[in-house]
Amino acid sequence: MLIRDETAMRALGARLIEACDRGGVITLRGELGTGKTTLVRGALEAAGIDGAIRSPTYTLVELYPLEKYSVAHFDLYRLGDAEELEFLGFRDYLNAETLCFIEWPERAEAMLQAVDLEVRIDYDPGGRRVVISGLTEWGKSLAAHLD
Ligand code: ADP
Ligand code: MG
Repeated sequence: MLIRDETAMRALGARLIEACDRGGVITLRGELGTGKTTLVRGALEAAGIDGAIRSPTYTLVELYPLEKYSVAHFDLYRLGDAEELEFLGFRDYLNAETLCFIEWPERAEAMLQAVDLEVRIDYDPGGRRVVISGLTEWGKSLAAHLD
């Protein structure tokens, strides 16, 4: 789909999280500045998180408790090695009560067997081109909701 501007990207994040009622893994792929963090911000705002939503550029992960589950927002761009991922306790976030949004999943490929939904964002003359793929049954139902 074509996402024309920042507002539309936030709205996509909002529609995505509205379909989520539990934990799972959503990866966001795309070059720097394509709008991965913008999409997650839209999702978190729609979920009722207000105030500062910081990009986890240096902390690698920010955790937001919601009523039914928590959202963990990862940005692995600056991840050093697999050991650093262990140190973060990455594995412990992969559970049914945590919805993980992961920017730069390429950095942690070995640990991501459990991806439900993949969001691919590319620059486009008209804004951003977004391709959403469901990889599990749940992920497929989410993708269908966004069609
Ligand atoms: P990333 O996390 O992928 O590095 P960000 O979400 O931090 O990217 O930044 C995306 C930037 O691009 C923002 O400044 C945003 O305003 C701008 N932008 C312009 N057009 C779009 C669009 N169609 N979708 C998302 N962001 C857009
Ligand atoms: Mg980002």
